[in-house]
Amino acid sequence: MRPDPADPDAFRRDAHRLVDWMADYLAGVSKRPVWAQVEPGDIRAALPSEPPEHPEPFDAVLTDLDDLVMPGVTHWQHPGWFAYFPSNTSPPAILAEMVAAVLGQQGMLWKTGPAVTEVESHVLDWMVDLLGLPATWRVDSGVGGGVIQASASDATHAALVAARRRAAQERGASLVDCVAYVSAQAHSSVDKGANVAGYGHVRLIDVGDDQEQRPDALRQAIEADLAAGLVPTFVCSAVGTTGTGAVDPVRAIGEIAREWGLWHHVDAAWAGPFMMCEELRHHQDGLELVDSYVANAHKVIFTGMECTLFWVADRRPLLDAMSILPPYLRNEATESGSVVDYRDWHVALGRRFRALKLWFVLRMFGAHGIRDRLREYIRLATELSDRVDRHPSLERVAPTSFPLVSFRHTAGDDATRAMIAGIETAPDVAVTPSELGGRPFLRISIGQLTTTEQHVDHLWQLIRDQAASAAPD
Ligand code: PLP
Repeated sequence: MRPDPADPDAFRRDAHRLVDWMADYLAGVSKRPVWAQVEPGDIRAALPSEPPEHPEPFDAVLTDLDDLVMPGVTHWQHPGWFAYFPSNTSPPAILAEMVAAVLGQQGMLWKTGPAVTEVESHVLDWMVDLLGLPATWRVDSGVGGGVIQASASDATHAALVAARRRAAQERGASLVDCVAYVSAQAHSSVDKGANVAGYGHVRLIDVGDDQEQRPDALRQAIEADLAAGLVPTFVCSAVGTTGTGAVDPVRAIGEIAREWGLWHHVDAAWAGPFMMCEELRHHQDGLELVDSYVANAHKVIFTGMECTLFWVADRRPLLDAMSILPPYLRNEATESGSVVDYRDWHVALGRRFRALKLWFVLRMFGAHGIRDRLREYIRLATELSDRVDRHPSLERVAPTSFPLVSFRHTAGDDATRAMIAGIETAPDVAVTPSELGGRPFLRISIGQLTTTEQHVDHLWQLIRDQAASAAPD
């Protein structure tokens, strides 16, 4: 008899097997090479060219998952993950994903998913308090509010669209004249979002020695654009740039934004969750001068991908830009005006029950447990920075405000490249090379859930050995 993929008893049996598979994966991931061991095209070549015509048992799928798919998996959950930024998941988030999958919610409207909507508003309000954000950004304030988006790029795009709307409403701006300003070190998602949102101009603002956006350069650029008859519309402060972790001066940029009526967005995609630790909040001083803010829970606070937290200080421009109500979506709750319909807070209509992950993570780690881990990452990064500073052949290229250590070899670019190439041959660590002013450097980002002092010590040994062989005395 052919298996019935919709049979609940078979699901129970298969799901138990899969949970064992999942637990084995997490228990054994540290023994795998971090990077996928395949060449381009290998995975497709291993998959059958014809789609399956008849039902197959779960066993067959699981065998192929192991044999054909797993070789092409990069192990982001490996404790030797020091590349890019982390993309942490965790057992609580995985459990929540299982619940979200089984409930199969579509929470486009409050009516179609009251729990999807209200758990989301609630955990985002919790996060306002946990990150030290202004109380008027809470959903229950009725003024601003938070929403979960799929990515920081989506959130920044939404901010650009809301800013464009406000400039059109308040200043009669036409799109071709709108200008967005962003540090030359900011993430490419700002530039991309401005292009997608149709801004006529994007200005990359010079940075200072610490790679932070220079307010004087921003002011000059705005004045030049005003003189040319353009409409300065949007400025982004980066709190923790992707390249070096630099922190733009939020207050100084906010004051300039207020003076000229620009929308002020903070991109704290990576560093934002670290604001759970009060001692780091000085990095975001000036939030009362901010219109929107993005932080990815899915980088360092263990929720798994697609858990971007996005807040606006005033929800009206965002809703004005995103709301359209066709007849088939009309319903009593929406018309009463007493509910949040999150479809009006982003481009997508349909939405999963993504807030469950954050709810499970907050419940099962507790804010205290998360803070302890974030502080440990900061401690490990500070220790690594100190080691780099004490090493005669290494020099840092930026301050270490959050757990990202960026440095190069003092013997020059060839030595830096050779050192990086040597480190990259190790199977049990992943690092990311980058460039600043055309010169190579190495980025070490610390923050994977299972990374401990031992893993950082091992990486340091590699760095020391490779620094020595890159430029022997
Ligand atoms: N902003 C910053 C500072 C980032 O570091 C990143 C990604 O690393 C992004 C935005 C884009 O994030 P996402 O992949 O969620 O779009």
